[in-house]
Amino acid sequence: MYDFLSNLSDYINNRFNLLFNKLLNEMKKKFIEIEISIKHELNETLHAIEMLENKSNVVELDQQLIGRLSRMDSIMDQKMSIAKLERQKVRLKQLEQALNNIQTDDFGVCIDCGEDIEFKRLQSNPTVKKCFECMKG
Ligand SMILES: [Zn+2]
Repeated sequence: MYDFLSNLSDYINNRFNLLFNKLLNEMKKKFIEIEISIKHELNETLHAIEMLENKSNVVELDQQLIGRLSRMDSIMDQKMSIAKLERQKVRLKQLEQALNNIQTDDFGVCIDCGEDIEFKRLQSNPTVKKCFECMKG
């Protein structure tokens, strides 16, 4: 009887460890996926910033060469580029922060209530800092 129970307990422990490791590995994989997606968006954002910075400069150079109407267009265009540039820079900071945080226990924890942020929310936007309930306010 003792052997049976001891074997059963070993069996359950082994099963549990296997299952636990499997879950842990799945979690790790998901976090690695998120990390990759952050890095991907970070690169895209850096690229967009570079493009927008070039664009803002080019418009300034061109202003001597173009007529009044297209100059107004260009100024509008430039203002939009600058606004876009500012947004991309804010996004870049958020992404850099998320990338630093993903290695810590703070990542994926709501800054308001301390609960885990829904995984799907993190997947669709790794820079969110609040769970759905707290975001609703
Ligand atoms: Zn919360």
